[in-house]
Amino acid sequence: MRCLVTKSTGSWYQVVNNKGESIDCRIKGKFRIKDIRTTNPIAVGDWVEIEMEPDQSTGVIVKLEPRKNYIIRKSINLSKQSQIIAANLDQAFLIVTLASPRTSLGFIDRFLVTAEAYDIPAALVFNKLDLFSNEGMEVLAEYENIYQNIGYPCYKVSAVEGTNIEQIQNLLKDKVTLFSGHSGVGKSTLINALVPDLELKTGAVSDWSDKGQHTTTFAEMHDLPQGGYLIDTPGIRELGIFDIEPQVLGHFFPEIRERLNECRFHNCRHVNEPGCNVIQAVENGEIEISRYESYLSIFHGNDTRA
Ligand code: GDP
Ligand code: ZN
Repeated sequence: MRCLVTKSTGSWYQVVNNKGESIDCRIKGKFRIKDIRTTNPIAVGDWVEIEMEPDQSTGVIVKLEPRKNYIIRKSINLSKQSQIIAANLDQAFLIVTLASPRTSLGFIDRFLVTAEAYDIPAALVFNKLDLFSNEGMEVLAEYENIYQNIGYPCYKVSAVEGTNIEQIQNLLKDKVTLFSGHSGVGKSTLINALVPDLELKTGAVSDWSDKGQHTTTFAEMHDLPQGGYLIDTPGIRELGIFDIEPQVLGHFFPEIRERLNECRFHNCRHVNEPGCNVIQAVENGEIEISRYESYLSIFHGNDTRA
């Protein structure tokens, strides 16, 4: 029976079948990802094949379907094991705000690079619209201009006042969407506005973890009333950019990617090389200076979190 994994504790997995029934499952066999060592073989968003145990009350995951993408979190210890947070995402929304605490352009750019590296279409959701002054609205227009020009949709909402919530609900329909954002931007408020009956659902989930299992989940998958799922990653401040070689970093900036073949040297790093078309485009104002600064900052491994 083909099922979707909607919750995981590391030893137990909650899956949903095509009738919408949830079944608690354990794992049988080995599921490994070739190129990374992970502490958990299966994550929310995975599609799996299960067989029911003889007593018909719980199931066993026997097969994992290939993933179209997945996001990981790097472990902070030295064993270099990573945790898969979620799989098969259709889109990733970064919730940001210009009102307290203001999200920096560097933070936005690291998120977008990460989404590019994971091959997940990304968009920006500017929250707390109700707090923006005239000046704030000007900055917002500037940001929208920067990001829409290079292909990232921008949406403007107020989670508190309910502005444009329906627009976001429509975008989530029948999709698996990751919500990310640093703390204080209003992610929880927005999720509650988008999924009003969520409290009920979280209640049901805690019943499940009352079975004596320790919940070490990093991602929560919320079933949306209009169809689709919203994946929240509480406690994860920033998705890890997994080892991007500086040499290929340009591929993850759309405006650099489209100019890659135009530099004098085929192995141009776009840092200080003569005949670099990327630097030229920055000087012409065709590439936004803040984007290029983010490129250099990631290139040089400056992990300053502003
Ligand atoms: P999270 O840490 O991103 O989950 O942020 P919360 O949802 O806990 O919100 C942080 C603070 O911002 C709370 O005091 C919210 O009431 C407030 N907040 C969230 N959304 C809005 C909004 O659209 N407008 C205003 N004015 N405040 C908001
Ligand atoms: Zn170059």
